Amino acid sequence: SRLLVTGMRIIDYMFPLALGGKGAIPGGFGTGKTVALQQLARWAQTQLNIYVGCGERGNEMADVLSSFKKLRDPGTDRLLLEKEIFIANTSNMPVVAREASIFVGITIAEYFRDMGYDVLLVADSTSRWAEAMREISGRLEEMPGEEGFPAYLGSSLSSFYERAGLVETNGSPDRKGSVTIAGAVSPPGADFSEPVTQHTLRIVDALYSLDVSLANRRHFPTINWLTSYSLYAEPVKQWWAEIAPDWTETRGAAMKVLQEEAGLEEIVRLVGPEALPERDKLILLAARMLREDFLQQSAYHPIDTYCMPKRAHLMMKTILKFHGLAAEMVAAG
Ligand code: ADP
Ligand code: MG
Repeated sequence: SRLLVTGMRIIDYMFPLALGGKGAIPGGFGTGKTVALQQLARWAQTQLNIYVGCGERGNEMADVLSSFKKLRDPGTDRLLLEKEIFIANTSNMPVVAREASIFVGITIAEYFRDMGYDVLLVADSTSRWAEAMREISGRLEEMPGEEGFPAYLGSSLSSFYERAGLVETNGSPDRKGSVTIAGAVSPPGADFSEPVTQHTLRIVDALYSLDVSLANRRHFPTINWLTSYSLYAEPVKQWWAEIAPDWTETRGAAMKVLQEEAGLEEIVRLVGPEALPERDKLILLAARMLREDFLQQSAYHPIDTYCMPKRAHLMMKTILKFHGLAAEMVAAG
């Protein structure tokens, strides 16, 4: 029921991740998976973050490590490096180590969770992990399943994700700890119907689906607001209500504008925006403001890289207030 504050507006406000939750970030090459996970590992308001670099490029690992030496946590103003654990398993390292790296990460996460800390684990990427399992399984001459992955791919993935959760530990003093997991999935050719993505979708409760066409338009983060979802929106309602009593309605109103824009897109393609009635032109304008001013957020901008939930709410209210006032004027003719 508590929100994991990530500082990313589209996640915190539109598709929230709860403490102890599990989310997946699938996306094709260059859609921003690594940047999104690095942002989570930087700004998530937890006591400890674990970054598992699994089978990806070594220079990314080096980049993230050196950037952490300079950055400070916005909550405590201490060096980010103090709350970070890196597990480096780059693409040139042995596959057997890769298979282990994810489990090493989650076991360390549980160790700190049992001390009563909130821990976030990010894994980049679980597809490389699945490929390692495929290679090991092949050498063991096991019977292959879909696309050569072992038949136990689904249960291996869930044995990882299901270790997320919020717990009350045994022993004294009483403490609560949590492990939240965010895993990147890199489907070849951005084809979400491949086995690793499909199995992951069955397990996770929040999906941030990254969109190649948004990446081509340089809209970052490329989380598609029409195809992503979070089942934590309901549980974190109470948490949000303390900061913004009208969060549920505001979020719903913004979603509605974005969906209406998608519905109008077809007509706009056929006859152009000029042929639309004034009301619909206003929808397009409001949706554009939502996309460009709220959903877009540069990871490289010194201020916009992190956004407090309160500020996100005020930004959203401002855009919707504009829409409401303008709609009144349009209706009045
Ligand atoms: P992937 O890991 O999915 O292959 P990356 O995370 O390496 O993709 O992102 C590719 C490029 O997209 C980055 O180098 C960066 O230029 C851009 N990018 C991704 N996310 C953002 C963001 N939130 N803000 C600004 N630029 C971004
Ligand atoms: Mg990457």
